[in-house]
Amino acid sequence: MIVTRFAPSPNGFLHLGHALSALTGFRAAHAAGGRFLLRIEDIDTGRARPEFEQAIHEDLAWLGLEWERPVRRQSEHFGDYEAALTRLDGMGLTYPCFCTRKDIEAEIARSPAAPHGPEGALYPGICRHRSGTDRAARIAAGEKFAVRLDVEKALALTGPLSWHDKLKGEIAADPASLGDVVLARKDIPTSYHLAVTVDDALQGVTLVTRGEDLFHATHIHRLLQALLDLPVPAYWHHGLIRDANGDRLAKSKGAPALRDLRTAGMSAEAVVRRVDGTA
Ligand code: GLU
Repeated sequence: MIVTRFAPSPNGFLHLGHALSALTGFRAAHAAGGRFLLRIEDIDTGRARPEFEQAIHEDLAWLGLEWERPVRRQSEHFGDYEAALTRLDGMGLTYPCFCTRKDIEAEIARSPAAPHGPEGALYPGICRHRSGTDRAARIAAGEKFAVRLDVEKALALTGPLSWHDKLKGEIAADPASLGDVVLARKDIPTSYHLAVTVDDALQGVTLVTRGEDLFHATHIHRLLQALLDLPVPAYWHHGLIRDANGDRLAKSKGAPALRDLRTAGMSAEAVVRRVDGTA
């Protein structure tokens, strides 16, 4: 059975881009007599707000979508992400990273040949080779640290990987293109990459529908699935709705929220037509 999900972060109001993601998942599930889930991605508890979470429910219902209950809220499941992290730790695939953003930027500026990936400069590996004594001393001194995945080591274990993408076909995974990603942040005991991969597996998601801005993240998610023995869903990275300048819609760039469109008198049907016409 096909299981899809819409997984917004409640740190702002939904806009047309979110409507497209939600509709893509909802329709894919319904066309196949499958299940559609909503997941609230609120690991960043400092940014998540109850009013945005409430608005997600209202806006999706207004659009005519239905989803299964109970809704999984990531902030209630930190233990699941911790268990996955402990497993990767136990495999010797992680390391503590004490770097500040400034440290990383300075190191990248110093090395003109610093490798770049689709999302910019990669983590330059400052903490990858620290000795056990150095790490222990820093931790004992109370230095805060993130946990990173040693991607090269991980790939040596898994060998080549791929995934099936609905629009692009078979894709060879290239996790190294994102470098040693963060699995647990300094301030949060997990990360987007780890939580989303664990949850899609735990919830039995078989088709991940999300915007193509997250296409690159799938390289890492595929690697995490292989390391954690998780099932591999298919992926549908849909196109993005763009504004008049060709930029993708974003809260930060003033994309109108669905609720603003509603207040301005736009009907849910008109929103759906707009999404369908521009997608
Ligand atoms: N929570 C992510 C976001 O709002 C989407 C995660 C996903 O679909 O994988 O951008």
